[in-house]
Amino acid sequence: PKAFSVLGIPVHVMSNYPGWLLECLQHSRGTHVVTLNAEMTMQAERNNSLAKVIQDAELVIPDGAGVVLYLRWLFWQKVQRCPGIELAEILLRELEHKQTGAKVFFYGGAPGVAAKAAEFWQQQTPALSVVGTHSGYHSPEEEAQLKQTLAQLQPQVIFVGLGVPRQELWIAQNRHLCPQAIWIGVGGSFDIWSG
Ligand code: UDP
Repeated sequence: PKAFSVLGIPVHVMSNYPGWLLECLQHSRGTHVVTLNAEMTMQAERNNSLAKVIQDAELVIPDGAGVVLYLRWLFWQKVQRCPGIELAEILLRELEHKQTGAKVFFYGGAPGVAAKAAEFWQQQTPALSVVGTHSGYHSPEEEAQLKQTLAQLQPQVIFVGLGVPRQELWIAQNRHLCPQAIWIGVGGSFDIWSG
């Protein structure tokens, strides 16, 4: 996709992000989605690993109002703000129709939060298959187990809600476990979906 540089970070501008992601799924093209706001670009300036991970992500969407204004002023681009949580919600709803039975995994948040968010989505989109959840606070042994589970299940969509930059770094390190999946860092979205 077409990218514009925001302080050295490429941001992809397109009219239909969920549609693009559904196409990735159809073609089994593994994708890391970063939802970029101004706070993250500033973190990336201080944190080279984070900057590198965002630069390598297949899709960087303008999540924050600051990023959107920057793109409008500097490049005269018609850019719509696309909050990460909304992208995730639209993706799940469209995926339910386009790929019945698609497997979804929720990782992150305080104990029980991902499970509650997963329960909410299993009700909202019953034709999808929520195949697993894991809290974001755990021992190294539990994390090893989580990785094994992901490798075995091969979910099509994996939401990672560990906060920035933890979730971005974790995805970059572990996406090889499910090379055909869409991996999205969703921050505190599980806290909202869990009610
Ligand atoms: N979190 C986690 N493990 C940690 C630290 C944080 O799972 O070790 C979760 C936390 O419970 C919360 C989310 O990460 O659900 C961070 O949410 P926040 O809205 O602060 O994210 P950001 O603003 O960084 O996107």
